[in-house]
Amino acid sequence: MCIFCKIIAGEIPSTKVYEDETIYAFRDINPQAPTHILIVPKRHIARAGELTEADGVLVGHIFAVAAQVAKAEGLESFRVVTNSGKDAGQTVNHLHFHLMGGRVLSNAMV
Ligand code: 5GP
Ligand code: ZN
Repeated sequence: MCIFCKIIAGEIPSTKVYEDETIYAFRDINPQAPTHILIVPKRHIARAGELTEADGVLVGHIFAVAAQVAKAEGLESFRVVTNSGKDAGQTVNHLHFHLMGGRVLSNAMV
């Protein structure tokens, strides 16, 4: 099982922010902003590069939850990022969306 599958299963502790049947959200262990939350599908998908049209409802749901969590965290502005593949900075091979905010974020896109 991958590290995020273990977190979802409760085998590795995490600070849960949100959970439902299909997704789990928890605080990043090494936050890059005052709010830094990881939103992951419970189903193991390796990376954004593996997504297909069939995942459309899931991904839409993830963004709806991101908006809801951002509101609950008091964020008027926030950024959602996913890294797909090693050269893009992906270090955990289970699809995850970084939800970051709480400070002025740089304009850099790369
Ligand atoms: P990536 O670099 O793959 O886009 O993001 C992986 C993220 O997972 C990093 O921000 C890293 O801090 C976070 N992370 C890695 N291991 C753990 C862990 O065991 N618990 C938590 N909460 N976050 C983790
Ligand atoms: Zn996994």
